[in-house]
Amino acid sequence: MKASIITVGDELLSGERLDTNSQWLGQYLSNHNVEVRRILNTADHLGEIEQALRAALNEEDLVILTGGLGPTNDDRTKEALQNLFQIPLTRHEPTLAHIKKYFDQKNRKMTESNYRQADVLSNCEVLFNETGTAPGMWFEVEGVGLAVLPGVPHEMKYLMKERVQPKIERLKSWMDRRPVAIYYLQTAGVGESTLSDEVLPDLPGYESDQIKIAFLPHPGGVSIRVNAYGESLQKARNKAEPVLSYIREQASGHIFHEGREHSLEGVLGELLSDSGKRIAVAESCTGGLLLNTLTDVPGSSAYVEGGIIAYSNEMKKRHLDVTDGMLVEHGAVSKEVALQMCRAAAARSDADIGVSTTGIAGPTGGSADKPVGMVWIGYWSVNEHFAVKANFTKDRLINKQKSVAVAMDLVRRRIQGIESTPYALQLQYH
Ligand code: AMP
Ligand code: MG
Repeated sequence: MKASIITVGDELLSGERLDTNSQWLGQYLSNHNVEVRRILNTADHLGEIEQALRAALNEEDLVILTGGLGPTNDDRTKEALQNLFQIPLTRHEPTLAHIKKYFDQKNRKMTESNYRQADVLSNCEVLFNETGTAPGMWFEVEGVGLAVLPGVPHEMKYLMKERVQPKIERLKSWMDRRPVAIYYLQTAGVGESTLSDEVLPDLPGYESDQIKIAFLPHPGGVSIRVNAYGESLQKARNKAEPVLSYIREQASGHIFHEGREHSLEGVLGELLSDSGKRIAVAESCTGGLLLNTLTDVPGSSAYVEGGIIAYSNEMKKRHLDVTDGMLVEHGAVSKEVALQMCRAAAARSDADIGVSTTGIAGPTGGSADKPVGMVWIGYWSVNEHFAVKANFTKDRLINKQKSVAVAMDLVRRRIQGIESTPYALQLQYH
């Protein structure tokens, strides 16, 4: 069984306090035959906590998080869990009674934040904490165990020994008994929420304690992972079959590969090689990232002709035959310029396919009709010449990555004869 430890607290990062919880947990888990693969200290920061949890839950069988459960505003762990699970808090009455008793005994008056100590995520199993005021929480997320414990060392140790340990044993025996068949379906050109809500709306119906489905987004697309359990591997596979058929049928155009590997450039490379087509690029907002990504693939010289990185208008005019007229009338970020750029890239290199990118990467430089994140992607081949418009994010580097992913996915779809564009990114043919 593999585990990650996450400890939350600004004081751990600034060196004001030594992270003794990790050391104790590492030892405790090792002694109980759990392999700790990663220890992460994170700040009391909503996004950081959520991101750390998300990554750990995707990779491990067990995640132990400590800290950030105190009553003060700087403790953000519960809020991060709310964001992660999209699930509200509920007040846990036995814990509230316990806290009230504690304050009565000390003759102290409870404040609003003391009441909030009794709030827990409504999807958790409460780990009742007799030794303090912050309860622990236990979650099982797609077969992965998650323990969220207070940072106070003696409370954390108590909850681990008394409450979490039996759960780890149960998780272990469950894992041992059940062979698992794991499948990955790699998609591109469609966002996580569109994929789950619009493309695969009936998928939750297939989830059970025998079938676990996860959406794992990354800059190039979304991986769908299906875990199937059963008394034998064959039975597990049989259980997975209807789920896989449903996904394959519904998401057919979006799936570019089946298997753990999710390199869109690798798959595109194979398609280009097999079809004997050669590609050239003309890049503005991606600054060479598209060509760089295409040539990350060994053997890409078989199908990559090269590219022209034309960032300034002057370069676009001189090397891609963009005219002053186009720039004055439509601007550098426009359908007309994207169309010209991809056509010129192909013409100058004699490639079969030309692709271009021109957009507002941000964070500045946007306007009302051309906001930050707006990118035109042009496509030229002997038979087709069009450009699509995407609206990405406010983040410069993400915009560059997404432009590259969409450009590559567009070429993949054209070679495979898939009619749709990567539609979830609000692309339109023009
Ligand atoms: P918290 O649950 O974040 O409110 O933490 C409560 C107390 O436990 C604070 O005094 C922290 O400094 C301490 N604490 C939190 N995390 C750790 C840790 N990883 N190792 C040692 N002490 C900790
Ligand atoms: Mg704290």
